[in-house]
Amino acid sequence: MTDPTDAVRDLALSLPSAELPAYLYDLTALRTHAAAVRAALPGRVELHYAAKANPEPRILAALGPYVDGYEVASGGELAHVARVVPGRPLAFGGPGKTPAEIAAALELGTARFHVESEHELHVLAELARRVVPGVRVAVLPRFNLPVANGSLAGSSLAMGGRPTPFGLDPSRADAVVRLLTDGTYPHLELRGVHAHLASGLGAPELVAVAGSIVESAVRLAGRHGVRLAEVNVGGGMGVDYGAPGDRFDWTAYGAGLARLCDRYPELVLRIEPGRALTAYCGWYATEVLDVKDSHGEEFAVVRGGTHHLRTPATKGHDQPCTSLAVEDWPHPWPRPAARGERVTLAGQLCTPKDVLARNVPARGLRAGDRVAFGLAGAYAWNISHHDFLMHPRPGFHFLGP
Ligand SMILES: *Cc1c(COP(=O)(O)O)cnc(C)c1O
Repeated sequence: MTDPTDAVRDLALSLPSAELPAYLYDLTALRTHAAAVRAALPGRVELHYAAKANPEPRILAALGPYVDGYEVASGGELAHVARVVPGRPLAFGGPGKTPAEIAAALELGTARFHVESEHELHVLAELARRVVPGVRVAVLPRFNLPVANGSLAGSSLAMGGRPTPFGLDPSRADAVVRLLTDGTYPHLELRGVHAHLASGLGAPELVAVAGSIVESAVRLAGRHGVRLAEVNVGGGMGVDYGAPGDRFDWTAYGAGLARLCDRYPELVLRIEPGRALTAYCGWYATEVLDVKDSHGEEFAVVRGGTHHLRTPATKGHDQPCTSLAVEDWPHPWPRPAARGERVTLAGQLCTPKDVLARNVPARGLRAGDRVAFGLAGAYAWNISHHDFLMHPRPGFHFLGP
């Protein structure tokens, strides 16, 4: 169980049943958290928010004062973020960029391109010449770097250091740097190197990953006698759904990055977290519709389900939650209630996969009580399969200024 903020609790209890489920975003909590993250980072580390974690306009805007820019991973995100937070620096990453998306990004004056392949580099160069003649476009090739001493072992989602469709194989690094520095494409500028190798790591592991990325980038540049201005060491700061109180240690991470900054005083480091910035500000609040016993296990069926909050199904965890008692029971018949200590919280979908949390300690949970699922501010609504079974969409509420 995990406790909602007072504002979230009050709203989760006061919304009429018909307006549940609902996503409740505590923007005050988000701002406080983002400010603490920013404060833990050395001044020379730039913070970009990876918009794919949660591109809600109010969230992008609330993060504005604390971030240096936004990382977008599709033409859709690019257009959306450029519209919602106009004028902020954007970095365009992600695999499989289409020529139309690249052209749109060039037209928007995208600050940086994270290039995923040699083919993409050629396409970008060709389009840059046509779409923004006379402009030098900043490029950071993304490398799928091997990382020393098994730092990625604890990762929940490794996308580097092993075969993946992401980034360039390190064996192509020299060829790519040559292509960007031998005069072939004078309108492209090798600004630096990008790597996003894993998600779900703790601070010490992620400091080690950042060190490996920077060292290999500096070695690569040294081999070609060029200077890199920036290294982007990616996102992936861990969010522990099993222990929501144990947040990523931004202070330790910031201290580790400060040591790297000291060692490489000429480099700007950039990070681009998504999940660890916004996960904690979001709640999915709903109502228990029914409680029943099935072959010795107790189930509470809630309004909504994994078609709104797919995170526990995709990541295979129990979404942290807290129950909020409602005393009202308007019916003359007995109120369904859990008799045992533990209840499995399922949604309204006709599939056994529609489980939000298993065996939650929720003694006495009754139909009509409410449940607030936490850590629902990232990779939650926007990764879910909303249309399956055609249930209504949840409400969306933003708390705080
Ligand atoms: C998804 C992604 C991120 C953000 O990852 P989190 O785990 O949400 O911090 C950053 N960079 C790239 C390239 C990504 O694909």
